[in-house]
Amino acid sequence: MNTTNHVYKRAKILATVGPATHNYEAIEAMIKAGVNGFRLNFSHGTHEERDQQLAWIRKASEVCKKPVAILQDLQGPKIRLGDFDGVVAVKAGQELRLTINTTYDPTTNTVPVQYDLSQKVKPGERIYIFDGKVRTTAQQIEPGVVVVRVENDGVIMKRKGINVPDTDFGGDILTKKDLSDIEYGLDKDFDYVGLSFVQTAADVEKLKDILKERGSVAKVIAKVETQAAIAPENLEAIIQTTDAVMVARGDLAVETSPEVVPIVQRKILELAQKHGKVSIVATQMLISMVENTEPSRAEVSDIANAVITGADALMLSDETAIGKHPIEVITTMKRVILYTQENAPVRPLLYQEGNHAQQDAISSAAVTLAQQIEAKAIICETKTGVTAFSIASHRPSMPIISVTSDRRVANQMTLLYANKSFLRPDGERAGLELARELRAEDFFPAGSTVVIVSGRQPGVPGATDTIRVRVLE
Ligand code: PGA
Ligand code: MN
Repeated sequence: MNTTNHVYKRAKILATVGPATHNYEAIEAMIKAGVNGFRLNFSHGTHEERDQQLAWIRKASEVCKKPVAILQDLQGPKIRLGDFDGVVAVKAGQELRLTINTTYDPTTNTVPVQYDLSQKVKPGERIYIFDGKVRTTAQQIEPGVVVVRVENDGVIMKRKGINVPDTDFGGDILTKKDLSDIEYGLDKDFDYVGLSFVQTAADVEKLKDILKERGSVAKVIAKVETQAAIAPENLEAIIQTTDAVMVARGDLAVETSPEVVPIVQRKILELAQKHGKVSIVATQMLISMVENTEPSRAEVSDIANAVITGADALMLSDETAIGKHPIEVITTMKRVILYTQENAPVRPLLYQEGNHAQQDAISSAAVTLAQQIEAKAIICETKTGVTAFSIASHRPSMPIISVTSDRRVANQMTLLYANKSFLRPDGERAGLELARELRAEDFFPAGSTVVIVSGRQPGVPGATDTIRVRVLE
């Protein structure tokens, strides 16, 4: 193993696959450049393309001997205008008839929409078109039609996004397309399923129930991007219910206001650490590199901030999906993560009381012990990943080397703070054996101390009860 293996990043990189990276070579190069997980965005593309991407990712993961997570990111009620030609100017004060299943008709101001807004929207609610560029208010609801008043001059084009920040979906955020995408995903080995436009904890619960009923063991990522989700009565409950949470800054800024986002980001990172859930910061982290080879100063600062405040993972969207420099984007992000973690301690955003459960108490003790004796790693034997999630939530400054016999769990843990996943058979000495193997490969110098967290019954979930300290000869 070469020396670069000794330097590893604690914050992980989740990258979106798209036209710019739609081939095996690009996927392998991305893993080599530092990607820990891939996002397949179900707002675009066909199931055939997904099949190819899944096969490429799993093959590249084998070739590189590096587990990676795959996220099925559901579109959710990401409402869009329908198809029509050209750029249509709209004026403040004008009315539009937003209509399902129709064509554009300038004589009646009828504009096609891909979703039946009349089922959900109420008079007086705001409807934003074209990522918030055209603001309108619902006036009148008819079957299949919402009549809106335009509030500002602007233009609209086919398929532009619509946001409905005031609208209560009443627990019905999964669309027909989402349900068929979930169906498609059941026998594909997705590690995570992303739930877009979550409003309440019940939305997360519902997806979890569907996945469980259908035998899926994929974990759920709640994408926080609505006004409802950030309401105090919803946010903590959503994070408690989900396995992972994404700060989906793109839509969140449209539904609230850009200046709301940094504060919400800190709050989400804090709550995710408190409850031991994976936190992902997403959207525009290196957006200027879609075109440029150099990041902006503000982007570098944004990444550093996310690292210092203890995000588990940082996401790339357009940068790797349609950008001109997907690999440079990853190496840039990795460089900033490494520099930041080596030069600024992570400041967990909240003093951790722990949740008083035995699992959390053991994890907390293991991390404190490892820091005090300057251990080179925390080795974590885990069946379901629960122990690794819990150790990671205490944000140790050394690697968490997690060893599991479950491939899916190894993949899921790749998004965890400071984690490195290894797939090995269950066994009483699985952790110690892996530590010795890594020592033999010079992953640790001779005389390194490691802390090993395990259970007396290897392979039994939730039986973690032992902390050992070992010096590797
Ligand atoms: P999206 O989610 O890219 O699926 O819209 C992320 C965001 O809104 O920031
Ligand atoms: Mn979004």
